[in-house]
Amino acid sequence: THFGYQTVKKSEKQAKVAEVFSSVARKYDVMNDLMSFGIHRLWKRYAISLTGVRSGQRVLDIAGGTGDLAKVFSREVGRSGRVVLSDINEAMLEVGRTRLINAGCNNVDFVLANAETLEPFADNSFDLVTISFGLRNVTDKDKALLAMHRVLKPGGRLLVLEFSKPVFEPLSKAYDLYSFTALPLMGKLVANDAESYQYLAESIRMHPDQQTLKAMMENAGFVNCDYHNLTGGIVAVHRGFKA
Ligand code: SAM
Repeated sequence: THFGYQTVKKSEKQAKVAEVFSSVARKYDVMNDLMSFGIHRLWKRYAISLTGVRSGQRVLDIAGGTGDLAKVFSREVGRSGRVVLSDINEAMLEVGRTRLINAGCNNVDFVLANAETLEPFADNSFDLVTISFGLRNVTDKDKALLAMHRVLKPGGRLLVLEFSKPVFEPLSKAYDLYSFTALPLMGKLVANDAESYQYLAESIRMHPDQQTLKAMMENAGFVNCDYHNLTGGIVAVHRGFKA
């Protein structure tokens, strides 16, 4: 049946994503710097500046991986606040845990969770939810957005940092060329894993564009949604609030 087909496709995608991130976990940070020429740090810094994070808040970073965002949130929320770094992948979460504990972040919990359900988390329990370069890996994005809405407190804020659609055609062409040739090549040379980086390029191309993601957030119940393009729309930060 059609339904049966969808189920197979879905578990296939989840298995592929698990394989990719287990395989790249140890090299993840160095590859991020290499592939984005270090620019991912600026994208993240900008996204964090839009979160409005404050002392005493409860923050959930979904698909948080090696903890770039959680590390900053840990400092910003201070001793009276709490940060949860969550990820579906044990290998990624373990790299994040080691890194944050070594950095002295003692207000952070580490929780294995699928973004589609966010099962470990209670309704209305976070002031801020973030997902950075994670949503494109999630099979059922609408379901994940509903779960993010569920765990936010009323008045709480969601921030999605993700690859998006370049706004100028020449940039789009150059970027396609880069992702489908240079990325897998660097993956091969540095991580000895061309296939995972081929997947990365494909997942970026398949991801919804700016307007589509904004509409999906509105459908999930978010209000006052907006987005900011970074680096000509190669990346966008989407923001929405729970009423
Ligand atoms: N947020 C980090 C950053 O910005 O550097 C890590 C991003 S990394 C590209 C994507 C992460 O999404 C991986 O750690 C992967 O394990 C996680 N992931 C993939 N599918 C997921 C899902 N369904 N639920 C939660 N995390 C997921």
